[in-house]
Amino acid sequence: MAEQSIVVVEDEEDILELLEYHLSRDGYRVTTVADGERALQTIPRVLPDLILLDLMLPGVNGLDICRHLKGDAVTTGIPIIMLTAKGEESDMVTGLELGADDYVTKPFSVAVLLARIRAVLRRRREPLPDGRGTLRVHDLVIDPARHEARLHNEPMELTFTEFGVLHFLAGRPGWVMTRDQIIDAVRGEGYAVTDRSVDVQIVGLRKRLGDCADYIQTVRGVGYRFRD
Ligand code: CA
Repeated sequence: MAEQSIVVVEDEEDILELLEYHLSRDGYRVTTVADGERALQTIPRVLPDLILLDLMLPGVNGLDICRHLKGDAVTTGIPIIMLTAKGEESDMVTGLELGADDYVTKPFSVAVLLARIRAVLRRRREPLPDGRGTLRVHDLVIDPARHEARLHNEPMELTFTEFGVLHFLAGRPGWVMTRDQIIDAVRGEGYAVTDRSVDVQIVGLRKRLGDCADYIQTVRGVGYRFRD
């Protein structure tokens, strides 16, 4: 496989050097950028396979970069992993809703970051379910055509909304989904879901999942993720 390229946007020089060293050693072609303006010039030219994006940058900040890249047809498909500091949960939520794929909180372990990068690159190669085909994940089989889910080969008793939420999350294992993204995904199908009721749906779903309740992970301050 051809060498994959990563653009790292980060204004802290020591972190930038650390990332460049480890990513190069892992076989990626790395381009480093230390400010927002430069990032917006460099990324459309390099068209990397992935972007590591610090949110707190001088000048154009990370969220504005994210908004810009996701709004441009040329760059919209490039996955973004945000680098965030503790206490920036609301920025993370905004970033995920703008289309960023994942985030890592500083200080981060390089091994964890490399694993996240591999997971995001791998997911990008797998087509998302089209909403009609049967979905198999862990011990769960979901048949959207029949509106039926089976766990350990036993039918699950789910409400209409619970089914919608489960189908949405299980269709994208490993992806962090905010409450708003979950609402948007299921509301279009005639469900009545509000922000807080997402949490209620999750409580209900975990009960029905029983010993597999940990399939649905809480991402504190952000939303939920189906176990990869
Ligand atoms: Ca910074």
